[in-house]
Amino acid sequence: MRDRRNSLHKRPGSGKIDGNKSFEDLLRKTRKSTSSVNSYRERSLKIHGLICAKCGREFTHKNRHLLTVHHKDGNYRNNPSDGSNWENLCVYCHEDEHSRGLFGDYLGDEK
Ligand SMILES: [Zn+2]
Ligand SMILES: [Zn+2]
Repeated sequence: MRDRRNSLHKRPGSGKIDGNKSFEDLLRKTRKSTSSVNSYRERSLKIHGLICAKCGREFTHKNRHLLTVHHKDGNYRNNPSDGSNWENLCVYCHEDEHSRGLFGDYLGDEK
């Protein structure tokens, strides 16, 4: 007598796929956060125009990658949709803006 046939029989619908769900969720979240960074830049350029707020240099679609978005309060997470915390600065002015905050004491000694 053999009873093996019974134990070999697989029951359908007992597979576990719950483990994949959280991983997918994580992926989606990561994607969302990176895309929001790009969108605030596009928004700021649209609101303030392709022009540096400091030196007044104008940019076109060809060299607009040289125009960056500066956060006035220094908090890159503070992104109000009306653009009140954004300033469009060319890469040169943007660098200057940040080096001033960091090396303000050195600059004061220059003259
Ligand atoms: Zn500039
Ligand atoms: Zn900045």
